[in-house]
Order: sequence, then structure tokens, then C-alpha cells
Amino acid sequence: MTETIAQAKPALSSVAKISILGATGSVGVNTLDVIQQHPTKFSVAALTTNTQIDLLYKQCLKFRPKLAVVVDEKLADDFIAKFDHDDFKPELLVGSHGLEVAASLSEVDFVMAAIVGAAGLPATLAAAQAGKRILLANKEALVMSGGLLMKVVRLNDSVLLPIDSEHNAVFQCLPKGDDKCEVEKIILTASGGPFLSRPLNEFENITPDEACAHPNWKMGKKISIDSATMMNTGLAVIEACKLFEINIEDVEVVIHPQSIVHSMVAYPDGSMLAHLAYPDMRVPIAHALAWPQRISSGVSTLDLTKIGALEFSKPDSNRFPCLQLAYNALEAAESATTVLNAANEIAVEAFLNNRIRFTDIPTVIDAALQQIEHEEANDLEVILTKDQQTRVFAKNFIDRSLLRH
Ligand code: NAD
Ligand code: MG
Repeated sequence: MTETIAQAKPALSSVAKISILGATGSVGVNTLDVIQQHPTKFSVAALTTNTQIDLLYKQCLKFRPKLAVVVDEKLADDFIAKFDHDDFKPELLVGSHGLEVAASLSEVDFVMAAIVGAAGLPATLAAAQAGKRILLANKEALVMSGGLLMKVVRLNDSVLLPIDSEHNAVFQCLPKGDDKCEVEKIILTASGGPFLSRPLNEFENITPDEACAHPNWKMGKKISIDSATMMNTGLAVIEACKLFEINIEDVEVVIHPQSIVHSMVAYPDGSMLAHLAYPDMRVPIAHALAWPQRISSGVSTLDLTKIGALEFSKPDSNRFPCLQLAYNALEAAESATTVLNAANEIAVEAFLNNRIRFTDIPTVIDAALQQIEHEEANDLEVILTKDQQTRVFAKNFIDRSLLRH
């Protein structure tokens, strides 16, 4: 079991300065919601967006960061012009390099890594290199670079705290500090998404809007589709193996449609510890911001008598083939999870743009895993090359074999 993430460092006494990468996304907005409840504990040093400059502008006026980053260069002038009549203007960096600067500012204590997809990897690595406390929502960074990210975290005395609700739950249920007792297994829960009981013969006609309508969580589009295919749980299994340094055989997945139990840890004496909360990302965000202390998140305590029943069942691999693809990738050489992630990103984007069917998503990923050679991937260049190679392959595969007319 890893020591990288679990060793308690003393709580910060002064105001903690935070950079939020992906501030305008679902996790970014929830992070700012928790921060604004605790102005004496946290202040914002940097906020970043890809294209959402209207929201970033409002966030800047409210939280007054030293630095703002807009990745899309075409929008930079429009963004800065918005401050013409204000008494405040942040320093602006344009382009993806700005993300790495935001992640490694010397005065920053915490970095919320909440960019979606592979685009978040270089900045997450930069935060680790700079020895920051990383609040990791950007699971794709860990899935594609696994061993490397964990190594950089360890070498630079950085700390990774999981924001993904399952992993945050596991982290809360694992043995604490010097208590090194044995863990039997980790049980990750998954809601099963919106299609848990939809007849399989209707899957071909699932639309992006239907797939984005998650029954319990309000999230960005990419993770919503991943939840509908259950690739999100596949990525979660990989994330758990890398983060907690455990074997795939020691991770179990159960479907839990209510999303109240966020995951569990089983011990050899038959005990199982579970983390329960309403499905609201402010819970894990507040946990990681305050760790090893606790602060309010704005989310109320569960009323289990109102919820009544909690159900659990085994996932059906016919319904959710993406889950098995993730297991296959994890069992192959390290670069296979990079391929899995990149092919999934391309397939999800094509589905969201109505270019392929819902059922084509696993077909694209399977083809990429079959066709692209696997190798050890312990440096960034190899990983980024594999990522690019997969994207080209997946786009061509879609154009050649799957395109809807
Ligand atoms: P989102 O789509 O709502 O927001 C994504 C953010 O990333 C935005 O701020 C956007 O501007 C930025 N971004 C997108 N592409 C970028 C690029 N190329 N360069 C730089 N910035 C870019 O996504 P989200 O739902 O907030 O998810 C963010 C991450 O957190 C994902 O990795 C997701 O898997 C993970 N996560 C999200 C939730 C959730 O409840 N939303 C839960 C668990 C984990
Ligand atoms: Mg999750």
C-alpha cells in the first residue's frame, strides 16, 4: 500500500494558496464553492480555462488571483479587454505552457488538477515536480502516466490527494499514519450510469444527450459519457491500482445505483469500512482541501432514513464492454493504459459530435489496443508519443470504418 499519498503532513497554519487548473469546469466550480466558504483558510493564486473566458472573468473578479491562464490563444485579447473598467486585472498567460506556470508558482501550496483528459498531464506533472500538494481530479493523467507520475510525486516530496469520489472514499477508509495493518481488498462502487436497465437492443440508438444525463451526478460531458459506458469505472480501477499501489486482483467493482456509498476497504478480520455521503463533489474536495483536518463543504449530513434502501450488484460485462477493455489494458504493458485513454477520448468526442454510435466507443478502443504496440512507458516522451499515435489511429479508424452518414 502506498506511502506517497497517505503520510500526514502538518496542517498548514497560514492561508493556503491554491492554483485551480480547469477552474471553469464542474470540479473547478465546486472547488471555488468550497473555498468561498472559508476565506480565512484559502486564497486563490491562479485560475485557468481552455475557452470559457466569460466564466473565468467572473471568477477572477470574485477571487482575485495573481494569475489567469487562457489556453485558447484566439480568446486572449477578448479576455483581457473585459477588465478595462475594473479596478483589478490578473496577470495573463496564454497557451498551454501557462498551465505549467500556474501549477508551479513558488507561493502556491495546493494545486487542484481538474483539467479533463490528457491535456492535464504536463501541468499535473509540473505540480508534482514543484513538490505541491496535488488534489487530483484529472484521472486521465494518472491512467496515462501511472508509474511516472507516482515516481515524480515521491522524488519531489509532493503529496497526491484523490478527488475522484471513489478514491477519496478509499483513502478515507485506509489505515492511517503508522497503522500498517493489512488490507484484504478495495471495493469500488459505480452507479452504472443512465443505462443500467435499458434493453441492450436499444444501445445503438442512444443519443449524446441521453448519455450525458447522469442519474446522480452533474459533471462535465466527457466523464458523463465515461459513466454511461462504465469506462469511468475502468479508469477508476486503473487509477486505484496506481494510486494505492495494489494489484488488480485486489480491486473489486460493484454496481450501487444510489451513489451513496462511494467505495469500501475490506480487512482480513471480515470488517469492511465504507465512506458514505450524498453524491456531491464538494465532499471529497473539502476533505482534500482540509486534510488531515475537516471543514464544512456545504453538503448536509446524510439522512439514511430518507434514502431507505442501498442496492449492490455485479457489473454485467455484455452491457459494459469498456470495463473489460480497461482490465485488459492494465494487464498489458504500461503504455496500454495510455492507448486506452487516448482512444477513449477520441471515441467519446466523436460520439458527442454525433459521428459514431454509442456502441462504437468500445470498438474504437478495442481496435487501438489490438493494433498499437505496447511497451514500457516510464518517460514523458514515450507516453506523449503513444498518446499522439493512438489519437491518429483512432481518428483514421473512425473515418475508415465507422463514420455515420
Ligand atoms: P469539465 O469538462 O466540466 O471541465 C474541464 C475543465 O478543463 C474546464 O475548466 C476546461 O476549460 C478545461 N480544459 C478542457 N480542455 C482543456 C485543454 N485542452 N487545455 C486546458 N484546459 C482544458 O470536466 P469535469 O467534469 O470538471 O472533470 C474534470 C476532471 O475531473 C476529469 O478528469 C474528470 O474525470 C474528473 N472528475 C470529475 C468529476 C465531476 O464530478 N465532474 C468527478 C470525478 C472526477
Ligand atoms: Mg469517480
